[in-house]
Amino acid sequence: MSFVTRFAPSPTGYLHLGHAFSALTAFDAAQAAGGRFVLRIEDIDQGRVRPEFDAAILEDLAWLGLRWEEPVRRQSKHMAEYEAALSGLVERQLVYRCFLTRKEIAEAIASAPHGETEEAFRGEALAPADEAARLAAGEAFAWRLSLKKARAALGSAYFSLVFEDETGLVRAAPEQHGDVVLARKDFGTSYHLASVLDDALQGVTHVIRGEDLREAAHLHVLLQKLLELPQPVYRHHRLIVGEDGKRLAKRDQAATLRSLREAGRTPAEVRAMVGL
Ligand code: GLU
Repeated sequence: MSFVTRFAPSPTGYLHLGHAFSALTAFDAAQAAGGRFVLRIEDIDQGRVRPEFDAAILEDLAWLGLRWEEPVRRQSKHMAEYEAALSGLVERQLVYRCFLTRKEIAEAIASAPHGETEEAFRGEALAPADEAARLAAGEAFAWRLSLKKARAALGSAYFSLVFEDETGLVRAAPEQHGDVVLARKDFGTSYHLASVLDDALQGVTHVIRGEDLREAAHLHVLLQKLLELPQPVYRHHRLIVGEDGKRLAKRDQAATLRSLREAGRTPAEVRAMVGL
């Protein structure tokens, strides 16, 4: 069986020990399986990414001893592909325009009977006349996946949607996500859409990533089904925590691979620090 896995960082900060653990876990798994390891730079959010972080990712991973296939896939260079996939969903009426502002969503959530979140918000398409008026007024909108329409489109296949992760076979429950945004107002795609498409385009057979993204798999397998993409196997790993017991974040400067390298730590020591 072929084995292709990936590491997909966002260049919005320097890589820290948590990233090192994730990248090494995926890389080691590819080596052990005699498989391939690919790299993807998730840089669709041009308001947050910075070129120096992109360059630092490559440098830090190489220092750690990782090797990957060229070319590295940079999402910002493939916006047309995400747009094309979105257009297909628009044509099939599986997505709808959402003109709501964050404030309006927050208000709607506050008055919702069940604990909805901004991501899991469920809205609905506007009446055509209202929508046309807003479009004519140049109002910005996001595209949201309509769970209701997705369910109707897939019929019984929706209810038999399963995927494999480290716990075994899991029944997908995409409804926990609500109507997710597939194309943001500001940059026309989203992490979910771009990531799912790229995993397929890069031939990824095993998605290895942190358990903070465990729930995302439920949505991703639904998107794969709707877009007729192959479904990879999922493997979620533990998260690396700092001395305060909290998950490492980009603000934890001391744990960046740069600062560890500058402090004279070796790649072998970094491996040991994350328990590998
Ligand atoms: N760019 C995402 C992150 O840095 C990766 C998500 C994924 O592995 O699917 O968290």
